[in-house]
Amino acid sequence: MSAPETKRVKLDADAMDVDGEKENVAAVGGGVEEKKPRGGNLESSVVQRAMPHYYDKHYPGELLFKWLSQGNDKGHPRADKSYPTRREFTFVLNKDDGSEIFARYKCFANAKSYGDAVKKEKPGRIEFGPVYNRKPSEKGSVDLKPVERELVFDIDMTDYDDVRTCCSGADICGKCWPLMTVALKILDTGLREDFGFKHLLWVYSGRRGIHCWISDERARKLSDEARAAVAEYFAIVKGEGKSRRVLSVAPQMYPAVERAYKNELADYWINSYLPEQRILEHEDKLENVLDLIGTADANIKADLQEEFKNSKADSVARWKRIEETISKASLKNYRLRGMVEKIICWHVYPRVDIEVSKHMNHLLKGPFCVHPKTGRVCIPMDPKAAEKFDPEQVPTVVDLKQGVKTLDGAIKTFNETFWNACDAENAERLTAKTRAAKASNQQSIDF
Ligand SMILES: [Zn+2]
Repeated sequence: MSAPETKRVKLDADAMDVDGEKENVAAVGGGVEEKKPRGGNLESSVVQRAMPHYYDKHYPGELLFKWLSQGNDKGHPRADKSYPTRREFTFVLNKDDGSEIFARYKCFANAKSYGDAVKKEKPGRIEFGPVYNRKPSEKGSVDLKPVERELVFDIDMTDYDDVRTCCSGADICGKCWPLMTVALKILDTGLREDFGFKHLLWVYSGRRGIHCWISDERARKLSDEARAAVAEYFAIVKGEGKSRRVLSVAPQMYPAVERAYKNELADYWINSYLPEQRILEHEDKLENVLDLIGTADANIKADLQEEFKNSKADSVARWKRIEETISKASLKNYRLRGMVEKIICWHVYPRVDIEVSKHMNHLLKGPFCVHPKTGRVCIPMDPKAAEKFDPEQVPTVVDLKQGVKTLDGAIKTFNETFWNACDAENAERLTAKTRAAKASNQQSIDF
């Protein structure tokens, strides 16, 4: 483990704002001064004040601990009883001066002791780590090695800043959020169809991104090398800015990329992305597209540049011209074949932060944490209804405290889209072990 036992991180200045007056204004949501800046932020003092109530009344700690125990918490004779106690939890504690303390290598005997600790310590957030060979609290006296961990994916909107014209950084809106929806759908399909994973938990990260926790036993036991390979499979867009390049597309698309292109990207590009982001009417973003074309044909690039110089055409009309031009020219210049697909993938193919997926012992913020800036709960998402998910509607801790929203829907999504099936499979696995043991006993008796 390279990460230090504890570290302090300075938060933004507004995390230190403990002005009670302002807080009251924000908590009632309006009046004299609306304290809801762009991006859905809340005053951090308001969020912090609502946290004790959240942990007392709403945080589903026992359910989460049950999930992380993967069936080993129920006293089944074949269960690995020490498993739940070998899971690392990190409590990130907010200090009054705005810094954070990472209390790492925490572990708990059972769901109740986890729930009690959360209520008592009220961490700013909780990160889940791997299951180790020994209890993580024994670190220092034993050789601690991670032995399994859910395979995780992290997709963050900030990685799409160069292809958004509506927002940047931590901000999101209805025009750019569909980039996340498309990414979720492509990864969800690929993980299920190409890797055969079944138990995927999708979670909104509370502000501008999404996480996926893959809980199949096979996924949990993957080595770091295998994790990297799965992550790389989805990372066909490499590099940053001008040096970004697209693999696996031209001249022949890989089947998984072709499926993503046909099922999601082509339609999203023309019907949503271009009309909303209007990138071809922005000089620098148009240049990105023309530069890609220029890598295959400098003349076509120059022609299109000239054509769009004084054009009043919108992005969809401009795209139609680009498509026509490429299609005609590609009859003679084979290097233009696949260029349309390449341009689309360059912009909207999922941008996965593969470093998060690669290592079994990478900590990741758990579901049902609360984002300190937005106050929103990191709730599960139903992948089958991903396009209906609206981050603006996600309950905040203030909503929950005021009783205007509940987490009922979020818990239902957790159970119905993910946990019920995963839990049933965990139980079946233990039953199968019992059957196998009986059969082998019987065999030795017969022998
Ligand atoms: Zn936006």
